[in-house]
Amino acid sequence: MAHQDETLQAGAPARGPATASPDAWDEARSLVEGWKGGLNIAHEALDRHVNAGHGADLAIRWLGKSGERRDLTYADLQAEANRFANVLAAHGLKPGDSVFAMAGRVPELYAAALGTLKAGLIFTPLFSAFGPEPVRTRMEIGSANVLVTTEGIYRRKIAPWAGEIDTLRLILILGDEAPEGCVALGPAMAAASPEFETVATKPEDPALIHFTSGTTGKPKGAVHVHNAVLYHAFSGRKALGLEPGVKYWCTADPGWVTGTSYGIISPLVNRAAMLIDEAEFDLERWYSTVQDEKVEIWYSAPTAIRMMMREGSEVAKPYDFSSLTFLASVGEPLNPEAVIWSAEVFGQPFHDNWWQTETGGIMIANRPGMEVKPGSMGKPLPGIEAGIVEREDGTLRELGPGKIGELALRPGWPSMMRAYLHEQARYDKCFVDGWYLSGDLAMRDADGYFWFVGRADDLIKTSGHLIGPFEVESALIEHDAVAEAGVIGVPDETAGEVVKAYVTLNPGYEPSEDLERDIRGHARKKLGPAVAPREVVFRKTLPKTRSGKIMRRLLKARELGLPEGDISTLETDET
Ligand code: ATP
Ligand code: MG
Repeated sequence: MAHQDETLQAGAPARGPATASPDAWDEARSLVEGWKGGLNIAHEALDRHVNAGHGADLAIRWLGKSGERRDLTYADLQAEANRFANVLAAHGLKPGDSVFAMAGRVPELYAAALGTLKAGLIFTPLFSAFGPEPVRTRMEIGSANVLVTTEGIYRRKIAPWAGEIDTLRLILILGDEAPEGCVALGPAMAAASPEFETVATKPEDPALIHFTSGTTGKPKGAVHVHNAVLYHAFSGRKALGLEPGVKYWCTADPGWVTGTSYGIISPLVNRAAMLIDEAEFDLERWYSTVQDEKVEIWYSAPTAIRMMMREGSEVAKPYDFSSLTFLASVGEPLNPEAVIWSAEVFGQPFHDNWWQTETGGIMIANRPGMEVKPGSMGKPLPGIEAGIVEREDGTLRELGPGKIGELALRPGWPSMMRAYLHEQARYDKCFVDGWYLSGDLAMRDADGYFWFVGRADDLIKTSGHLIGPFEVESALIEHDAVAEAGVIGVPDETAGEVVKAYVTLNPGYEPSEDLERDIRGHARKKLGPAVAPREVVFRKTLPKTRSGKIMRRLLKARELGLPEGDISTLETDET
């Protein structure tokens, strides 16, 4: 290794004992090179490969919305990132300054992300469908100095208030022209040199800020450092099977952490050939993309998988999926039904894995080669110590197999968040007795597999039972008519709370009293009368975050007539 060990620490500082697995971190360190005594994510993602003679390897194959295609090799992407870094420098921006991007999945966005990191600035991607207010709040929280966006987004969402953000110094507009007060990125990039010496950032220098999905409340800005790249490299190999040249498609948008950790950094650091599709979900487009591009590793999310299931297996029959070697899913619990369905249709099951914006990388996974237990999130990655804990008299107690408690992790892995921006107290509260508390409830079985139960806030207490919504939802979607389900607890005088379900239906089914009774009957058979929903309500759609997560807190607030809270990440929904 070309670097000094003391500059390349594996551990998160000052937060309980480091995870006791030096071997895993030695292996993770061996996957990165280091740069001039420091560490920079973009050096690991691009420069290192080009220096080693892999510049001609395919880095990105981009599929545009309207059928355009563009291939970028590692050398091409490096040159684009260098140009972007030079544009920033030419405008007087310095390491530590903050760059926001909101531009959809276009090659310029990827060059901007990597150029920002090369120049030692902090990158924050935002989902391009956010409305003006969520963008503004996040740019204020993140003290944005630069915004990279499209002319359309700028005019519709940003122009009315851009002048009021004191920190904002530069607005770069994709394309050849820009409105007054902004700079057109096309000509600026063309005029910039394709050479740039990557800044030798330190491992603990901030690199990325990601806002959480806002499923449970106001989104938090999680700060990640360059050292995270050790874990991006390592977990991409261990949990997804990424390796040089492998054809990989991550369907997540870089506006969310998955789309950056595993949609930019991890595949590039592992020198994979990644596919980027600019378009939104479209069943036939997705199936032909997997077939025609011979995708080998596919990383997606339950909401997309359920959309595929909704259209049935017949639609999938004409396609050849034989290139696929590994399928993974993250973001929400993956219902057992979806695991079994995907194994039938694709010849490979989707492998569930669990992590959070805060953890920066995959923590628990059904890894390649592991036996999959449908409905389980799998086991902790090497180097990750996970436990199920319970609070008792102000301290934490670890629970044994079969017991439900809060899912906790021993701090110390490299991609752990280092702060919630401007929310020190909230950050501090996550760390208790040498554990990081995830806010999720889970159970570990005797074989060491972890099973998701629900968000701590979503747990339902009925007649002395604790019920996780996931179990009930999974049973409901096994009914032929049910496409998706969201389950909440509603207050009840005798039981404390009773279970209520909201469902959407598969094509060919219409809401009716008979169907409601039938679905309840099915759930009662699967779950028993204490756990089965008392009431099933039909909906056209369920309220979801833009990253595809069902917002149970919103179902509940609406049910109880309570304030809806922060809905900045809500997709448009109809009842
Ligand atoms: P917020 O923290 O703002 O409420 P969020 O928790 O949804 O939003 P993310 O960090 O994007 O924001 O999502 C992480 C959460 O998603 C996890 O804490 C967990 O609740 C859920 N999740 C992710 N993967 C899985 C999985 N495989 N199984 C079950 N739940 C998952
Ligand atoms: Mg969260």
